[in-house]
Amino acid sequence: MLAPTRCVGCDTRTALGVPLCNACRRTLERPAVCSLAGIPVVAAAIYRPPIQDALRRLKYASRPDLARPLARLLAEAMVQLSGTRALLAPVPVHRRRLAERGYNQAALLTRELARLGPWKSAPLLLARRHWSGAQVGRGRAERLENVRSDFVVRQARRAAGQTIIVVDDVVTTGATAYSCLLALRAAGAEVAAVAAVARAGGAPEELLAGTPFEG
Ligand SMILES: [Zn+2]
Repeated sequence: MLAPTRCVGCDTRTALGVPLCNACRRTLERPAVCSLAGIPVVAAAIYRPPIQDALRRLKYASRPDLARPLARLLAEAMVQLSGTRALLAPVPVHRRRLAERGYNQAALLTRELARLGPWKSAPLLLARRHWSGAQVGRGRAERLENVRSDFVVRQARRAAGQTIIVVDDVVTTGATAYSCLLALRAAGAEVAAVAAVARAGGAPEELLAGTPFEG
């Protein structure tokens, strides 16, 4: 497979394997690592254009090819995890959503990350238990309640005693990642980090209280 030659932000040509053109890279807002229940949340960008547009196309516009360059950007932000031999567990989507979209964007990112670092992909480690419906426009409390028991560790024996990095495309309130984290801890796994291409802006301590938007 050829490396992408177009910028994920604006579709202009870039050098082979380069995910962002120079103009888009200049506008990229690199977030500080923040904490979610004591676990570092590592993200390549703040959820704003051009990465916001790229993630929306990955998710809603049938552009699974964007997973590879976006994973490259995320891998750049994961240098401090490059010595961590962890399993990468993508946040699962509900099977109804999977049927609509045809792919889980977090699983695609995970597969690409496993090619770029010392981590192993564990795409089936987590499963989503219920259909929680669209998160858009819901309040924080409702969202937290809605996802609390949504995830289950499907491969409990594989997870026990392992170091895990939870992978998602976007972390907004952190409620989804938090729910995965609780399920993994209950299964005896140690979560080393949450890795996302983008996360909501604002101060780190505001992450769990972020304003609702898709993610
Ligand atoms: Zn660009």
